[in-house]
Amino acid sequence: MENHFDVIVIGAGPAGYVAAIRCAQLGMKTACIDNWIDDESRPVLGGTCLNAGCIPSKALLEISEYYAGLKDSSSHPGIIFKGLELDLQQIQDEKKRIVSELTGGIQILFRANGITSIAGQAQLHPDRHVVVTSVASNQKKEMTANNIIIATGSRPIDIEAVVMDHQHIVDSQGALQFKEVPEQLGIIGAGVIGLEMGSIWQRFGSEVTILEAQDRFLPAADRDIAALALAEYQRQGLDIHIDARVTKTRRHNNGVTVNYQESGHSKQLEVDKLIVAVGRRPNTEGLTPEEVGLQIDEGGYIHVNEHLMTNLPEVYAIGDVVPGPMLAHKGSAEGVAVAEHINGSPHQINYDTIPAIIYTEPEIAWTGQTEEKLKQAGIKYRAGSFPFSASGRARAMRKTSGMVKILAEEKTDEILGVHIIGTNASELIAEAVLAMEYHAAAEDLALTIHGHPTLSEALHEAALAVNGQAIHIVNKILKK
Ligand code: FAD
Ligand code: NAD
Repeated sequence: MENHFDVIVIGAGPAGYVAAIRCAQLGMKTACIDNWIDDESRPVLGGTCLNAGCIPSKALLEISEYYAGLKDSSSHPGIIFKGLELDLQQIQDEKKRIVSELTGGIQILFRANGITSIAGQAQLHPDRHVVVTSVASNQKKEMTANNIIIATGSRPIDIEAVVMDHQHIVDSQGALQFKEVPEQLGIIGAGVIGLEMGSIWQRFGSEVTILEAQDRFLPAADRDIAALALAEYQRQGLDIHIDARVTKTRRHNNGVTVNYQESGHSKQLEVDKLIVAVGRRPNTEGLTPEEVGLQIDEGGYIHVNEHLMTNLPEVYAIGDVVPGPMLAHKGSAEGVAVAEHINGSPHQINYDTIPAIIYTEPEIAWTGQTEEKLKQAGIKYRAGSFPFSASGRARAMRKTSGMVKILAEEKTDEILGVHIIGTNASELIAEAVLAMEYHAAAEDLALTIHGHPTLSEALHEAALAVNGQAIHIVNKILKK
């Protein structure tokens, strides 16, 4: 039974490859099928995250941040640079190198765990039969499994007003591959991708205009954090327009003309390149013939229960293809949970503490509830905050913008939400996630000794501030 497996995983992004590794670790005969092809027509593992998402974007964010720091003499007083130059080709090569090291690493892990890795397009048929069309030969073969895990991920949403030509009008994947820094860059959507891409290219020298259809900036974030973020991005030069809806775009020799309605007024923008970043949708088209009866909702998401089981027996779905935040770490957590479930040792995922992170400078990171959500739910809380301008380490780093804000239940003091805007917020949030996993009270964080001088002291001080005991700011207690 060469082509029969305990588990077949469809998709090798952070949801699928993690599920495959955990299944193999648990002793299951595992295959993983993926159709991703790199720009040299080679099959590669890692899906969107490693090839066109998390990793290449963070590589460019890191390099561009370093470049912007070198350009800005006020960020390194006393250090004088002359003749600073940008070689975008070398930067893109370095990004590619980082990506291929990591995708190669997954290949090594697959081999070491005895996972059968197949480069092909998979289609799910009745009774867990999978037909795979080989990427290399286009030939079909049939495989079967006791369990199937669908982890086919997502792809960018298109909008009617914009026809993508993948040259001047691109999605996030194209935006990571520019060969020249655009002078004028337009971005549709001030979500996570719009802000991260806008930051990258603004730091490399583009004039960036972002058009956001909603009348509120970063509605998922805590209001205080979103307001600080907007002011900070605008100070950096990102021209962000809220309540701005694109009505038409026209490609011409010099770039793109974008027509949009801003707060009821017709406006026009000329750009060299336009990035469309208005969200992503699940990859379910063509995944299974209709007669199989896989339950898929109107948005294309696969319906799953609390164990990530679909309506088909022993068929699971995880990652971006199921409802929930489209985040790599959420998909990976689901991958492990499903592997454990198949192995007979199920555990529940705590969706309430999944951290959300925006890797701009300052970074934004949060977990748990926002103040607005607590108010809507009628939950009484106390809030404590601490600005990085009062942190010795932040001052020494010359990165003083932002703050930490902690929300705790009024009577029990249990931490209900932590919101950070500031340098290294992506790392700082891990302490908050752990605290919330253990249902810690603000007092628990306040009694925990933090190293000095560190940025994490801001979390400590914010926890102290919840109960009016912060040391390095004047306390005010917010009773709601
Ligand atoms: P994917 O990574 O999309 O992988 C699915 C794989 O399945 C792909 O290789 C796909 O080609 C393959 N596939 C699809 N259909 C089939 C089929 N029928 N047969 C075989 N193979 C198939 N998230 C974060 O947490 N942090 C970040 O910093 C971050 N940055 C991002 C930056 C950008 C620019 C983008 C676009 C996304 C970013 N994300 C980030 C989101 C993250 O990439 C996704 O949440 C994550 O990749 C989802 O993992 P997944 O395994 O569900 O799907
Ligand atoms: P998003 O949902 O974060 O933002 C899309 C934005 O586009 C929204 O603000 C929306 O109001 C706006 N929009 C929608 N239609 C519009 C229109 N016609 N005109 C103008 N604006 C419009 O989606 P995204 O930024 O495309 O990111 C997709 C997914 O990828 C997200 O779910 C995100 O979680 C994930 N991602 C995560 C990270 C990270 O974790 N750091 C980074 C990048 C992407």
